[in-house]
Amino acid sequence: MTEGIHGERTASELQDRVTELIEQQAAISEVLRAIANSPHDLRPIFDAILDSATRLCRADIGCLHLSEEGGLRLVAIRGDPLLVGRVRSSLPVLAEKGSPLDRLVTGRLPIHIPDFAALEGDNAGVRTGLIVPLLKDKETVGMIALGRKRVQPFTDRHICLFSDFATQATIALESTRRERQYREMQSELAHANRVATMGQLTASIAHEVNQPITAAVTYALAARRFLSAGPPNFREADDALSLIVKEGNRAGEVVGRIRALVKRVPARRDAVAIDDAILEVIALTRAEAANNSVSVRTQFAEGLPRVRGDRVQLQQVMLNLIVNAIQAMKGVGEGARELQISIDAVPSEGGVRVGVQDTGPGLNPESLSRLFEPFYTTKPEGMGMGLSICRSIIEAHAGRLWATACEPRGALFEFTIPAD
Ligand code: ADP
Repeated sequence: MTEGIHGERTASELQDRVTELIEQQAAISEVLRAIANSPHDLRPIFDAILDSATRLCRADIGCLHLSEEGGLRLVAIRGDPLLVGRVRSSLPVLAEKGSPLDRLVTGRLPIHIPDFAALEGDNAGVRTGLIVPLLKDKETVGMIALGRKRVQPFTDRHICLFSDFATQATIALESTRRERQYREMQSELAHANRVATMGQLTASIAHEVNQPITAAVTYALAARRFLSAGPPNFREADDALSLIVKEGNRAGEVVGRIRALVKRVPARRDAVAIDDAILEVIALTRAEAANNSVSVRTQFAEGLPRVRGDRVQLQQVMLNLIVNAIQAMKGVGEGARELQISIDAVPSEGGVRVGVQDTGPGLNPESLSRLFEPFYTTKPEGMGMGLSICRSIIEAHAGRLWATACEPRGALFEFTIPAD
């Protein structure tokens, strides 16, 4: 009989333990999902960690602080709304270095306070507390804490479980930091490539800026002549002045576009009129094409949808593809040098497709398979980064970039971009 009772109790205990483990498993999955879904933003991850930890460790409130130069900053707080309000108003957003809260985590070990009443100071209604430092390479990078409204010490199991949540928070912090570093490096690389490509076009761009300035000077001379005529021809002088203003604005616009391409700015997500953006790049490379006897043709479909993305980055892709095409055709001795740029709407892909086709030497199977590899180049002065950066830009826009060899010669680069 005793054995039976004893046996049943063990079974129900086991049942509870299994339920608890399943709950923990579900909580871990939830946190991992939050980490995967939010690689750039820590807030939803911290919220998921605190929600799971307060629930599973039977706490009323949970909060998370991160270390910074000045001390510990409160970055997330969850739980009983009333208690959250009270704790929020009593805790400083930044617990300064050396303050009691900051000192609590210098020992790098979990701290269990079974009854706050034993300590001095205002506890904002929290009676039992558990504080676990977030450690990375033995450095304290923050702390995570739980509180209960009633005096009810945490069990060893809860302390252990909460330490696991602290580890998850540290992992999330680290992976977000790496992701941020990686994106930063990618954006620096893309920027360097853009500036380098623009550098290759310096002479042609100077020509592009010079044209309206020369025209403005010519109109100014004409205006002077009209004014010094006897009698002065004010009407013609006025027309000439209007033309000077127009040419001045044109030069300003060219300079503005160059600045936009050379400036380092954070990535954006806008509704972009891809045809306008591409026309600007064609205008910037017009002189380069002309200097290399390349004729440029455009074939843009009507009523194209706007695409979602970063205008400057998309222009960078076009700049690379156009400059590559012109450079490829430079080496062609005879035959027409034609660059065809087309844009079509492709409803099946949910966006637009841009094509850049040249009549250069084309792509052999070896280069076709390696084109998009970083550092693959066949040019003596080449870096081999252009196409790999273009592909990462297009993929970051949820599009595709690919190349095809054309018959009888030439290469066709195409990319798709989803519509806004
Ligand atoms: P880079 O221009 O510095 O070489 P890219 O990544 O832009 O770097 O291009 C890599 C290589 O791809 C080029 O060196 C060239 O061999 C090949 N390539 C790119 N565009 C074309 C093209 N339009 N026609 C033929 N080959 C091309």
